[in-house]
Amino acid sequence: MEQKRTDQTCPLWGTETCARLNMRACRECPAQGKDPREANDIRGDVETLYSFLPEEGIHSLFAGTECTLCKGEEKARAESYALFDMGHADPRQRKEKLSLFRNKTYGFVVPLQFGCCKNCRRRYQLLSWAPMLAAILILGLALLVVSRETLAQSMRDVWRGLPLLVLLIAGGVSFLLGKLLQRNLRARFNAFTYMDLNDHPAVKRMGSLGWEGLTEGKYPQPVFTRKRLTYGVGTAVPVEQAEKTEGNGEIVD
Ligand SMILES: [Zn+2]
Repeated sequence: MEQKRTDQTCPLWGTETCARLNMRACRECPAQGKDPREANDIRGDVETLYSFLPEEGIHSLFAGTECTLCKGEEKARAESYALFDMGHADPRQRKEKLSLFRNKTYGFVVPLQFGCCKNCRRRYQLLSWAPMLAAILILGLALLVVSRETLAQSMRDVWRGLPLLVLLIAGGVSFLLGKLLQRNLRARFNAFTYMDLNDHPAVKRMGSLGWEGLTEGKYPQPVFTRKRLTYGVGTAVPVEQAEKTEGNGEIVD
């Protein structure tokens, strides 16, 4: 990646700002073709963003080979990444439209990329599937019952709308059970995995510096990916760190 940043006429070429911008290629860089004054503005932005980041940086989440979502002393081997974007409200109030119903103003957005093991990823996935699994199971059973003609007929004998009522009740029950199952699993999994990202030391540390998660909801769901983001602000591994880890801290399949 480094060898593609070849435009030595750029005022930022070879500077720490260039390393922090961590662009894939010069032609994709916001500093491309800019005069020194404009380039200096970009440098100012990058340095301001970095002044809001923890001193130790955010690369330790993804640069190592161990899972950073595992709790306890034993950390499993990371083999994918959990992405979680965080925004900082300072300083120039650029509008990021987050959803149809929510507009929030962030000056800066950086991705946190948690190296993640197979088990932590599975726990998150199972948790997000829990409500749907409960719905399929219970609604399926209810459908089975009301679709048996003899049973449906005896229900209709009691009241014409009873089969439909049974289905509606099953829908409500499956929703409640799904929520209950989710809560139960979360509490159980939480002993091994940071199931509440807001509880993760790195997210807390970012929070104390004015960052907040961009994902809505009480328990933000990260996006899982096999390959992490390797370019853009917040994705760089400092050179001295990269030399210590194998390769570039990349997880190879
Ligand atoms: Zn893990």
